[in-house]
Amino acid sequence: KNMFEKITAAPADPILGLTDDFKADPRTHKINLGVGIYKNEAGNTPILATVKKAEAILLAQETTKSYLGIPGTPEYGLAVQQLLFGADSTLIAEKRIQTAQAPGGTGALRVAAEFIKRQLGDVTVWISNPTWANHHGVFGAAGLDTKTYGYYNAQTKDIDFDATIVDLNQAKSGDVVLLHGCCHNPTGIDPTNTQWQTLAKLCLDKGLLPMFDFAYQGFARGVEEDAQGLRIFADQVPELLVASSFSKNFGLYNERVGAFTLVAKNAEQAIISFSQVKSIARVIYSNPPAHGAAIVTQILNDAVLRAEWEQEVADMRDRIQEMRVLFVATLKQCGVDADFSFIERQNGMFSFSGLNKDQVNRLRNEFAIYIVGSGRISVAGMTKSNMLPLCKGIAAVL
Ligand code: PMP
Repeated sequence: KNMFEKITAAPADPILGLTDDFKADPRTHKINLGVGIYKNEAGNTPILATVKKAEAILLAQETTKSYLGIPGTPEYGLAVQQLLFGADSTLIAEKRIQTAQAPGGTGALRVAAEFIKRQLGDVTVWISNPTWANHHGVFGAAGLDTKTYGYYNAQTKDIDFDATIVDLNQAKSGDVVLLHGCCHNPTGIDPTNTQWQTLAKLCLDKGLLPMFDFAYQGFARGVEEDAQGLRIFADQVPELLVASSFSKNFGLYNERVGAFTLVAKNAEQAIISFSQVKSIARVIYSNPPAHGAAIVTQILNDAVLRAEWEQEVADMRDRIQEMRVLFVATLKQCGVDADFSFIERQNGMFSFSGLNKDQVNRLRNEFAIYIVGSGRISVAGMTKSNMLPLCKGIAAVL
């Protein structure tokens, strides 16, 4: 009996599918502004110098490939917590935080989703509109209901904070609110500190559980600065969840290194809740891959490597910002009248260009310029040498 016969094909992933198409495109002048991967001025995604150094140390020192514990190493967990909440965080001192290494930010999100579903019941997860394409998939896969809250104002190209508040006021006590720690994907627009305060108070007043997706720490203003929203929340609410990722800020994309972090009201509740997290990880991947997390731990715990890493993150951040400025100027130079200055004000790898589906399709077909259908552009894919053809293409389809 042929049992696979009745299976129909799944749709290609909107972002990773685009990368496949890009790779298959024979045109040599092609430009990929799709997937969120950092590229340097030469268009490459090199291994960070600090990662290479840490790997050399690990290679010399490593004595076993035996399994890690389910949550990974305690050293990694502590390093993650210090990065998120600050080295002198009282939450750490009070042992209110528990961290499990997870396979990438996506793995951490999935563990969080399972934790919410199993331990918090049939609650709704509130997700910004728009958001990273995989959010609805990950929470949906755990059997959770998702609803969206307004976030973006297409007219002002800014946050629609009134809509955010109006929509989140519909949430019921116990519901979960997913927030992007910084560099909101896809809009590049983050709440101000005052807005973070307002959101934290709303969650506290309504009894909502905040869940941070923190995939770009260091890409907005700085490693410490970018954690401000999370830390404002941690000061106000008794409980929260974080799914963080080192794919971007350590360039460890294919090592799959992220973390699930839980903050509880006290140490005892943290330990009990975390025991459930461990049982979730056990039945999905059992225990995490070691290499990437060992690199991160090595760098963060070595003062010299850490300072060098912070500089590498700053260099990536600055290059992207430089491309934002050059993009806006080059569009003008190509005769585009429309105001694109909002691109300069946005954070991180992405901006919402405002290009529509037809324009995105034309860019791809006529100019070999690849952009996600929503009009999200990965600014990190821009270089000084592809800027002019890119802007000429955009000017032609506007
Ligand atoms: N969250 C957001 C908002 C992201 O943009 C990404 C990566 N594109 C992730 C999570 C997942 O990152 P990872 O590759 O570490 O799974």
